[in-house]
Amino acid sequence: MTAPTPSLPGPVPPHHSVALDLGGRTALVTGAAGGIGRACALRLASAGAEVRAVDRDADGLAALAARAGGLPGLVRTQVLDLTDLDAAEKAAEGVDVLVNNAGLQLVRPLEEFPPDVFHTVLTVMLEAPFRLIRGALPHMYAQGWGRIVNLSSVHGLRASAYKSAYVAAKHGLEGLSKTAALEGAPHGVTSNCVSPGYVRTPLVEAQIADQAAAHGIPPERVLTDVLLRDAALKRLVEPEEVAEAVAYLCTPQAAFVTGISLALDGGWTAH
Ligand code: NAD
Repeated sequence: MTAPTPSLPGPVPPHHSVALDLGGRTALVTGAAGGIGRACALRLASAGAEVRAVDRDADGLAALAARAGGLPGLVRTQVLDLTDLDAAEKAAEGVDVLVNNAGLQLVRPLEEFPPDVFHTVLTVMLEAPFRLIRGALPHMYAQGWGRIVNLSSVHGLRASAYKSAYVAAKHGLEGLSKTAALEGAPHGVTSNCVSPGYVRTPLVEAQIADQAAAHGIPPERVLTDVLLRDAALKRLVEPEEVAEAVAYLCTPQAAFVTGISLALDGGWTAH
């Protein structure tokens, strides 16, 4: 276990500010054992959805299931490694809401970046979302309604040094999402990206040491000098704030919102 992420003071995020009823709907959330995925799974189950929560992390899924008791909806967990692309496509069959969230990160200069890791990042974060969308669309098209939400990042819109695979995958995901929006529109299916800056999750905690090494600074300076350098709001985003944006994109009020990238980046892309 890594040390807790250092944090700056910030407001407590609003909980369930979005009115959303997903009773009778099925939602698939990938990477549901992680920080943002878990928040999304719990948020959608709070809205009444039956959530298929998938991840390769069995222990994390068990912890999620333990948190989900008593919610209006259900959380059903499934251990799934998304590098098994055929299994990923099959897992998405019949869902009304698809949240492509699973991801991984490696911070390393290009000339040292391991090609096998680059391949895995592109597989999990771009090719698997394609296969999941492919698996989900027939049911969505048949019923004339569907919601696809892709967890992109500020790194789907801007690059940062030492994150070649991640930035490439997220930029690709933005393009995939927009294409799904165009094709899905006549069928009542929207597709959007949610693009946060740095969120308080294990994915961020795990990169502090690598960021320090790559930038040649002590770990305690990574938050202020690297992670929050370009954001106007100097705090990490909470997973629940990201889940609330995902929930908004599933509301009837968001029916005309498609093909966008909803940035929760504290002003980073205002530069
Ligand atoms: P996290 O590490 O807490 O969770 C990611 C989850 O994905 C983990 O549970 C992991 O087991 C799962 N996963 C990874 N590879 C997998 C595979 N092959 N098969 C199945 N599951 C796999 O990370 P997070 O911060 O919650 O990130 C979730 C998403 O949000 C990612 O797509 C990430 O890129 C994006 N995002 C995160 C941040 C941030 O600052 N944390 C910022 C912007 C975007």
